[in-house]
Amino acid sequence: MTRVVEVVVVAAGSGTRLRRSCPKALVPLCDKPIVVHALEVFQKAGMIDGVVLVCPADHRQAFEELCRTYALSKVRQVVAGGSQRHDSVRCGIAALRRQTTVIAVHDGARPLIREVLIRRLLQASERYEAVIPGVPLKATVKEVDPDGRYVRRTVDRRGLMEIQTPQVFHRSVLESVYKGTVPPETTDDAFLVEQAGGAVKVVEGDYRNIKITTPEDLLVAEAFLAEV
Ligand code: C5P
Repeated sequence: MTRVVEVVVVAAGSGTRLRRSCPKALVPLCDKPIVVHALEVFQKAGMIDGVVLVCPADHRQAFEELCRTYALSKVRQVVAGGSQRHDSVRCGIAALRRQTTVIAVHDGARPLIREVLIRRLLQASERYEAVIPGVPLKATVKEVDPDGRYVRRTVDRRGLMEIQTPQVFHRSVLESVYKGTVPPETTDDAFLVEQAGGAVKVVEGDYRNIKITTPEDLLVAEAFLAEV
């Protein structure tokens, strides 16, 4: 069967933690909006057949305009997202083409994605139904009491990884887990596969592939982009 790979880029988050009033994806990073960086990487990547961009419902026109401005012809559809990340992923899945067999879900807030990582994930997805990128945790992690004042225990980080996106799934797997109810603690898509008892393969991620969440992340991303 021919593999048809589409990416769902979720970019419907707000700019609250970034302390901005506009959607996070539209905040400038170097010379363009955050989300454009990742979209340009997918645009150039030969193994990607199409992109569905999920944006805040009230900013759809601005995102469509962006795709025209930056000649992002692989973005086939710009659709409105929902109130939680998983609602937005669901909206993206609903807009995929009928012939798509492999789905990559990427956070629009990760502008430093590189083609080499996309290739590694897609290669692994020929053998595995769910593939995610991970990097060994550098930090010391402690579990604390609910108000964050006292340590309960220190977690052994040797068995821990920080997980990134894109996360790549065979279409049938992702569609089937998204048909069910999504637990409120869900922060990534692989979690749903784990919950359903499916195997999730981890491949080497990229320490540069950070998620822009707070203002200092913007400074780090700028430094990485200036280096190339
Ligand atoms: O909020 P957080 O940074 O964890 O969001 C991860 C990604 O999910 C971001 O790219 C954000 O735009 C997206 N998101 C979304 N819809 C939401 C919330 C987050 O598309 N309702």
